[in-house]
Amino acid sequence: MPGSYLIKPVLDGSYKEISHGNGIYLYDSEGKAYIDGSSGAVTCSIGHGCKEVIEAMNEQAGKISFVYRSQFTNQPAEELADKLAAMAPEDLNWSFFVNSGSEAVETAVKIALQYWQEKGQGRKTHIISRWMSYHGITIGALSLSGHTERRRRFFSHLESSPAVSPPYCYRCPYQLSHPSCGLKCAEELQTAVDRTGKEHVAAFIAEPVIGAAGGAISPPEGYYQRIKEICNENAILFIADEVMTGAGRTGKAFAMEHWQTVPDISILGKGLSAGYSPIASVIVSDDILCTIKKGSNLIMSGHTYSANPQSAAAALAVLKVIEKENLIQHAEKIGILLMKKLQNLKEEFSMIGDVRGKGLLLGIEFVANSEISAKPFPKDYNITSLITRLAQDLGLLLYPSSAGIDGREGDAVLLAPPLNITEVEVNKLVSILHQTLKKAEEMLTVMGRG
Ligand code: PMP
Repeated sequence: MPGSYLIKPVLDGSYKEISHGNGIYLYDSEGKAYIDGSSGAVTCSIGHGCKEVIEAMNEQAGKISFVYRSQFTNQPAEELADKLAAMAPEDLNWSFFVNSGSEAVETAVKIALQYWQEKGQGRKTHIISRWMSYHGITIGALSLSGHTERRRRFFSHLESSPAVSPPYCYRCPYQLSHPSCGLKCAEELQTAVDRTGKEHVAAFIAEPVIGAAGGAISPPEGYYQRIKEICNENAILFIADEVMTGAGRTGKAFAMEHWQTVPDISILGKGLSAGYSPIASVIVSDDILCTIKKGSNLIMSGHTYSANPQSAAAALAVLKVIEKENLIQHAEKIGILLMKKLQNLKEEFSMIGDVRGKGLLLGIEFVANSEISAKPFPKDYNITSLITRLAQDLGLLLYPSSAGIDGREGDAVLLAPPLNITEVEVNKLVSILHQTLKKAEEMLTVMGRG
């Protein structure tokens, strides 16, 4: 459509226009209601139309909307940084604000490189990442992302490649099971370090629960503890990309708390401002900050809109709502309920191979027939898009994810409703999901099960 502001990412998609939202519901311009079962892209974690956030943003807009970060600081950004330091574990005390998850990942990489330069170890430049991961869409962040479909077209510009398998127990790359596997997927990090030479490795980056590229893969017990040990033993920084998992999404402020693991750098995005205004934060340890301070005393990064007062005010208000309404504890509790209901669906529908995740970041992986095997549907069935389209028609929004070690040979969706979803609303969501799966089964019976 000429004049449309949207360059549509999927050219054959017919996009409806959303006119407004309220709580967990979105309404299109024709008046149809949708349960926002994925909080958009796992973003709108306190739902739509939150009065406290709107008021805080209006108030800030009346004071100042923009100051340039290298000329001035501003009060909401300072207060937000203090709040994040109080929320984050141990000495993760220093925030550097940018506008998106991708920018935050790029900034974290730069900070890691700078840290080793200031320590006189400038050869430590390599960042190790995992297959089946997503760290962002810009060239640097995409370089680290282990998602072959997203990488393929831009391969010539990608700087590095993921080197380590994901902790994907449903399709263990070694065909082992936990705990007798001895966490071979974690030990792979040591192999990758040995191959590169630890004198060249600056950091390891991972999403605590694999979201966009893995349908909420949560690792087995002991995995991150072992990863952190390997990082310590080899003098490698551990970067936790909590863009999707942070700010309460998994039932903890930071998902790494589930594994009692404190990274050297933690990245928040998405849920930090719950979609009210773009902001992301790179939170670094005292050691990293002091080392850079003693050296060049300048983090060599930043964007025009870094630490934007308007976005900082929105994020601060969001964190206050999360705190006041105990939404992190609520997410943990209601996530257990939703997970139980998904497990019931798994019993009923043989097209569900696995349900997984933590808190309110849950995933469903689809297979041709779980009673026979974990074989995925043929790729040309486009099951992920079939399910998300059927659900949307019935009034439920799901996030299309993917499955399979390289993200090509499997289908998955994410369920990640706003953290303040009630039990009644969970029942409604599951009822629509049930209708969706019934409809999909009917269609698949006609098509053949693959
Ligand atoms: N890291 C993770 C773990 C993500 O899930 C995403 C977004 N899906 C990003 C980074 C990139 O964030 P953004 O889209 O805000 O650039």
